[in-house]
Amino acid sequence: MLKIDESIRNSLIVASMSEWIWEYDLLTKELDKAEALINFLGYDKNEVEKGVNFWLTLIHTDDIKALLNALNDIVSNKTNYFAVTYRIKSKHAGYKYIRSTGKAFKNEYGNNIYMAGYSIDISEQVKIQRELSETTERNKKIIELSPLGVYAYEKGVITYVNESGLKLFGAKCEDDIIGKCILDFVDPCCRKTSSKRIKLLENGYKVNSKEINMLKLNGDKIICDAYSTSVSHENETEILSYIKDITEQKRMTEENKKLLEYTIECDRVKTEFFSNISHDLRTPLNIILSSIQLLNYIYNNSDNNYNDFTTAFEKYINIMKQNSYRLLKLINNIIDISKLDSGFLHMNFSNHNIVEIVENITLSVADYIENNGINLIFDTDTEEKIIACDADKIERIILNLLSNAVKYTKSDGTIKVDVKNEENAVLIIISDTGCGIPSNKLESIFERFRQVDEELTSKSEGSGIGLSLVKALVEAHGGIIKVCSTYGVGSTFTISLPNKTSENIEMPSTSSNASATEENFNRKVHKISIEFSDIYS
Ligand code: ADP
Repeated sequence: MLKIDESIRNSLIVASMSEWIWEYDLLTKELDKAEALINFLGYDKNEVEKGVNFWLTLIHTDDIKALLNALNDIVSNKTNYFAVTYRIKSKHAGYKYIRSTGKAFKNEYGNNIYMAGYSIDISEQVKIQRELSETTERNKKIIELSPLGVYAYEKGVITYVNESGLKLFGAKCEDDIIGKCILDFVDPCCRKTSSKRIKLLENGYKVNSKEINMLKLNGDKIICDAYSTSVSHENETEILSYIKDITEQKRMTEENKKLLEYTIECDRVKTEFFSNISHDLRTPLNIILSSIQLLNYIYNNSDNNYNDFTTAFEKYINIMKQNSYRLLKLINNIIDISKLDSGFLHMNFSNHNIVEIVENITLSVADYIENNGINLIFDTDTEEKIIACDADKIERIILNLLSNAVKYTKSDGTIKVDVKNEENAVLIIISDTGCGIPSNKLESIFERFRQVDEELTSKSEGSGIGLSLVKALVEAHGGIIKVCSTYGVGSTFTISLPNKTSENIEMPSTSSNASATEENFNRKVHKISIEFSDIYS
């Protein structure tokens, strides 16, 4: 080996070291042999002084105290070891983090007088450390603030839970959850699958996210989406589960599904209604047109036989009239239903004797009903009952129900109209011995555009909006309507109207004026013609 001078060798060793040696005289307070440090900081030898006060000007103000304390401990002989981290200003690259370590030497009196040591640049280390702790802090925050419930558990026992995890199980504090078994929070129906999944994770396998029924602390069931993964450290396997409560989401999806099905059904019913209504509008129109054509033909071919033409005219004009009424009824119903839907149907409430209204309108169609070979019975347990109602709408309701009763009752059958005065309500009961309504159709009978069975409606024409309008009109009075029916035996419609009068509304005066009475009579005939227009005798 090449022999070299020992002092040269020492200098070489020092120069090749990544640490910078320094010496500090505690008596003169001067730093010596700090060339490497001065070089590293980018200063020129001439710019640097040996005295401690100069060096203190380079130290970051926040670190001066710690450095002086460490020095004082040496000066006051508290310790022989010097170790301190501080920031020192470099010439061109801002502050550098330095770690200085030294050892003090004592004089013969046991006082520290001299110190030697080395410094290393730990700026990069500090930077990495800071980034790491920032990342750790950030991750911690992400987990803490995560909207998902985060749970860590070892051997099935929960060791960590975040804020959302507490809320998810309805817990107030960590103690409610930590230390408990995760499977305790799983609904018994899902425990077997969950424990299998935990075993798989513990053995290092991966599992897919899964919908699991879970239990809150109060026993409430919740539906959750769970994603789990395992983390192994020091022979222990920790499982992390991210759990989301999807109960509300599921309920909404289910509701939306039902809503969609309902919308599709409504759309189907509407389409069906339009096709029915087109048919219902076309049939009377065709009849009217054919009647006109026939009349025209008879007129052109009657060879001036006035009698022939008059007989035909009477017959076809009646047919045209009835079919015009049919069109009117349908259109009136559609208009009123739309008005009711948009809240624009005006209700004209006055105090009326409801018994009189029901009796009069029933009797006004008595001839018509009896001409169809059907018995009509009107009965009441009270002669007068004043309630607040819209007389016109009540007549419409009764006519509608009576026209249905006639439509679906064969000759020799019976239709009965009963008025009953109860404590809180007036009941109007319209029953018939007609074909009845199948029990499975009873629920939908008041729904718009529903008709029970085409076979049953053979005697009549209808669009299936009459009863929905009746129901809406009854409800506009604050009343309710119910149906009871036995298929093949008959049907009973019961209207219950609230037994109350309105103090602010006066009884309409019954005019004795002859022209007003006649006008009233004509109005009623017109109304009956419309409501009964879809019945053919
Ligand atoms: P439509 O115009 O078809 O008569 P409604 O809404 O008045 O419409 O009645 C709906 C359905 O209810 C009818 O198609 C019929 O099948 C059934 N219905 C109504 N009233 C009676 C009744 N008194 N007897 C038997 N079925 C009835």
